[in-house]
Amino acid sequence: MLPQTHVDVLIVGAGFAGLGMAIELRKAGWESFLVIEKGDDVGGTWRENRYPGCACDIPSHLYSFSFDLNAGWTRMYAPQPEIWDYLRRCAKRYGVLGNILFSTPLRDAVWEEAQGAWQVTVGEGMRITARVLISGMGALHVPQYPDLPGMERFAGPSFHSAAWDAQAVLDGKDVAVIGTGASAVQITPQIASRTQRLYHFQRTPAWIIPKADFAIPKRWRRRFERVPLLMRAFRTLLFWNLEMRVGGFLGNRRLNRLGTKLALRHLETQVRDPELRGHLTPSYQFGCKRVLISSDFYPALQRPNVELVTQPITEVRERSIVTADGRERPLDAIIYATGFQATRLLDSAAIYGRGGISFGEGWQKRKAALWGITKYGFPNLFLLLGPNTGLGHNSVVLMIEAQIRYVMSCLALMRRQQQQVMELREEAEERFEEFLRKRMPGSVWQAGGCRSWYQDPETGENVALWPGSVREYQRRTRRVSARDYELRDGPRVN
Ligand code: NAP
Repeated sequence: MLPQTHVDVLIVGAGFAGLGMAIELRKAGWESFLVIEKGDDVGGTWRENRYPGCACDIPSHLYSFSFDLNAGWTRMYAPQPEIWDYLRRCAKRYGVLGNILFSTPLRDAVWEEAQGAWQVTVGEGMRITARVLISGMGALHVPQYPDLPGMERFAGPSFHSAAWDAQAVLDGKDVAVIGTGASAVQITPQIASRTQRLYHFQRTPAWIIPKADFAIPKRWRRRFERVPLLMRAFRTLLFWNLEMRVGGFLGNRRLNRLGTKLALRHLETQVRDPELRGHLTPSYQFGCKRVLISSDFYPALQRPNVELVTQPITEVRERSIVTADGRERPLDAIIYATGFQATRLLDSAAIYGRGGISFGEGWQKRKAALWGITKYGFPNLFLLLGPNTGLGHNSVVLMIEAQIRYVMSCLALMRRQQQQVMELREEAEERFEEFLRKRMPGSVWQAGGCRSWYQDPETGENVALWPGSVREYQRRTRRVSARDYELRDGPRVN
């Protein structure tokens, strides 16, 4: 017999979202909760992505939990190992490590109406009954490989940026980096000097602004340690500096032009060759795809051993890549920095709500979840980093914390009303869908003339980003409106 466990709350994932949730439950005195984590450690994306140059692209003092500011960040934009360490420290400090089952992926979760609970199968078949299920799965962890003819024939090392092969020898070799997203622009500058030749394959150029990264002097770190208020003031400054940018993405043309100018000036300053500059100039609106920040990507592309290849890839052979112009470039290794299955993730998660409907089916019916957190037909399921809660302009940790507060309020509401089950009303979901529909048309994510992972592959609608400011999201999720939900004690009658 496989073991069976009962808990009040089951959290999926031990990244920023799942850990933050577990810590809040612990702080509020909850005892009966577990976190299942597919990996062997906490950290989520910051455990998984270990490519050279991997670092935050939001200032670290803002990219951290508000309840655990870190005076020790060594750089404005901390490198991946530091962020991973921070999360491990938080897990330890707040005593949630004992609640985490590592190497335990979610297999499926089925809502059992008769029990008013989720039946969850994990790992090798262990079953967990949980009254409340919270997804901290995030969107960016199932690699998306391109569909290139002959990919499987390549004889040398080839791997995705999020599954970095530390054994692969790149020094003195001919290497391809495919992609020009946030991952690729961090990788190319790091490995360019080690390779014999580096071919950077770009399909669409990105808008790139300078990265004001620098080491935070020790005396400042000591000051932050001694005067936490100073650190908080610094964080507030960083917050408003980023928050201001959202208008430019939501339709404010003047702000958008300012961003465009900044990026174009950066390009002109760093790239003198007009032909190369042409290849690197986007033809879509600033912000339509994620704006990248880098001060070393353009210089790396201009190294004598680096070539920017803009011709589409037509074939991968055993030891080369062929492009549409017929040119074949010999290669020892290929790095796919081609992103993640961001919008398909929840679609494919084996989560079955009331009446056995899969999350994918529920999503097809209505591509919305209230504040990205709750969905009609899925009682007692709460999503962290759910649809339309990503950000293109500010720290997503702030969104996670707002969602955690919202979930805690939902749990408190159930307790107060002495009800076991809470389900979003269909009308509330409809209203929210309408709200999103009204917001999107003027935004750069939809009207900006690009294709990006923010968009639903079928409709082209932005299903990834929150179409507003962080302040607005915080304000709107501060209180749970009991009217949006049906609270009940046991099975639903109808
Ligand atoms: P991404 O933004 O989805 O970029 C994937 C890249 O691969 C795009 O440039 C895409 O080109 C290209 N690509 C896909 N198929 C291709 C093909 N057949 N030929 C040539 N190019 C191809 O993925 P990512 O860079 O991993 O970033 C994903 C998200 O993760 C980011 O938006 C960000 O939210 C997060 N991230 C954050 C950081 C950080 O610093 N905090 C770092 C990395 C990632 P097209 O544009 O033409 O589709």
